Amino acid sequence: MAELEGLEFGKSDFVLLDEVTMEQFMENLKLRFEKGRIYTYIGEVVVSVNPYQQMDIYGKETIDAYRGRELYENPPHLYAVSDAAYKAMKRRAKDTCIVISGESGAGKTEASKYIMQYIAAITNPSQRKEVESVKNVLLKSNCVLEAFGNAKTNRNDNSSRFGKYMDINFNFNGDPTGGHINNYLLEKSRVVHQQEGERNFHSFYQLLRGGSQDMLASFHLVNDPAVYTYTKEGAATATSNNDRSSHKAVMSALEVIGFTKEEINSIYQILASILLLGNMQFESDGESVQIQGLEAVNQISELTDTEPDSVSKTLLYRTVATGGGEVIEKGHTEQEACFGRDAFAKALYERLFGWIVSRINSVIEVKDYNPVLHGKNTVIGVLDIYGFEIFDNNSFEQFCINYCNEKLQQLFIELILRQEQGEYQREGITWQHIDYFNNQIIVDLVEQSHKGIISILDEACLTVGKVTDTVCLDSMDTKLAQHPHYTSRKLSPADKTMDFQKDFLVYTLTHFGFLDKNKDMLYQDFKRLMYNSANPVLKEMWPDGHLSITEVTKRPLTAATLFKNSIVALVDKLACKEPYYVRCIKPNEVKSPVLFDDARCEHQVAYLGLMENVMVRRAGFAYRQPYARFLQRYKMTCEYTWPNHLMASDREAVEAIVTQHGFQDDVAYGHTKLFVRTPRSLFTLEQERAALI
Ligand code: ADP
Ligand code: MG
Repeated sequence: MAELEGLEFGKSDFVLLDEVTMEQFMENLKLRFEKGRIYTYIGEVVVSVNPYQQMDIYGKETIDAYRGRELYENPPHLYAVSDAAYKAMKRRAKDTCIVISGESGAGKTEASKYIMQYIAAITNPSQRKEVESVKNVLLKSNCVLEAFGNAKTNRNDNSSRFGKYMDINFNFNGDPTGGHINNYLLEKSRVVHQQEGERNFHSFYQLLRGGSQDMLASFHLVNDPAVYTYTKEGAATATSNNDRSSHKAVMSALEVIGFTKEEINSIYQILASILLLGNMQFESDGESVQIQGLEAVNQISELTDTEPDSVSKTLLYRTVATGGGEVIEKGHTEQEACFGRDAFAKALYERLFGWIVSRINSVIEVKDYNPVLHGKNTVIGVLDIYGFEIFDNNSFEQFCINYCNEKLQQLFIELILRQEQGEYQREGITWQHIDYFNNQIIVDLVEQSHKGIISILDEACLTVGKVTDTVCLDSMDTKLAQHPHYTSRKLSPADKTMDFQKDFLVYTLTHFGFLDKNKDMLYQDFKRLMYNSANPVLKEMWPDGHLSITEVTKRPLTAATLFKNSIVALVDKLACKEPYYVRCIKPNEVKSPVLFDDARCEHQVAYLGLMENVMVRRAGFAYRQPYARFLQRYKMTCEYTWPNHLMASDREAVEAIVTQHGFQDDVAYGHTKLFVRTPRSLFTLEQERAALI
């Protein structure tokens, strides 16, 4: 049992601390990390510290130990919450979700993989073939998504550069029948530029280092990332990833999932085209702009199944509609041509990634599910999404990512804190109110229509003419100066505090490049070029390319608005499920298995709101049930209630049971429900009941 594990390992649940102080919290967290106990509870929430070393705690015996057990029967583990989410789903037909949060490198993606492996291991005991194949695809999809969506950053050698929410569907037997992946905001700017010491997406290096000579030759590539502009920066960067063996694994995963040979070939053709595009240079003779070396044009047209003339024309000209409705071709300046080339490369990659996800979805989508025949179709969702990011240079991506975190934090507050307090109040349970920072105000600052930051950004982007980042910032300063959580470099130049839960906007908005990224402009000509490709896979990725220039008058939604909409939809989806939380902490900046950086950890504990979480949990009750339901289950354990009680109310009958078992100090009686503080009391009752039946 969790609490029975020796105290030399610290307290297995922060609720058991002698006093709820930051000091004691940190002492316990550090002690457990040093003793190799990387998981600790706050009630049902798992706090995890990245061990930065292989732990012998994920094997088959461990899985068997957790399978079907209650949370408090074993030491804290991801498997215990996974099982709790699974049991709730199976026994009570509840949709559940597991939300994993924490900053980059804290261990979210590894956690999500262990959770999926656990669920795969405990389901389908009869080894039915269809179910096994669904499980296999779900597990293999991770390998493919990581190859195309992850990259080495300065904080994490295998950093996810997209957000992922995966639903796993179950039938009434509790076996997986399918799933669905939603991906969020791929950091596509990485395709054309990386910070010092970072790499492009793994997929490029895997192809260049792992592709066969034949394959590379047919793509006009050489096996050296240093040759290509887009992969040069990362070429010499040491990583723990083995690109060559990963390439094999990805190819085989693609096959297992069901990608056809042609599709796999198309995927790599697109990667090759991007690499070749990156090396393309332009020269200007003062009048017109030319492509240097036409060989690349021919190679790209071959790889994308398009006409060489169309390729070069698209790179050098854009079609514009004049005010009079006339359509003309306008030559690019050298700068515009470079911008167009990079925008095209980024869009190619982003659409490729999106297409891979939807292709996987088409394989795992639940087909022919008949609720009458098969019972309710239930879902477990697993969310692994980027944590707060604060860099020296923060741009549009950090703004979006941090907004998303504010939103998820808000959901956490609402679900865990507000819900608890609300319920106690309704039930008339004495309750000491706990102050917490309600960050709805921050969320509103970003997303409100007309006056929120995204609206102001959009307005600037839609304004014809040159609105620069500076002009846009000025406009924000004017409109938002009164907001208690808005600060900009100009409004308070000296403010360098790092209180980013409340004031992350201070940072993100002091940096530039917002407008271009929000507009996310790609000349329509590129879309048309791809839509006209003879390769069906490419064509499918560019459905919007069929529009002619006179038809594309309606302005597309901006990147921030699209992102906001997708996050609002995500939060709605999570809010109607029973949530389970994994809160990941990164112990140090140097990937060390022995270093516990007190200041860094305390900072994370603070902004994840873990102290408030402990306080609410301690003040609260782990378990609650309506009187009638409680009676129904336990009346057999008490002489006064079996087979029927003669008392005035169910509540009194429940009191009789509780008193007989001696845990009257551990409960509170609400208007309609019994509240039990610690799970242990209930555990005793369950054992007694089991002995009687
Ligand atoms: P995040 O997704 O939060 O950015 P990752 O899950 O990618 O972080 O973890 C970063 C690295 O930390 C992993 O590549 C791995 O080396 C290490 N790591 C994380 N969790 C574990 C774990 N449970 N056991 C061993 N190593 C881990
Ligand atoms: Mg990750």
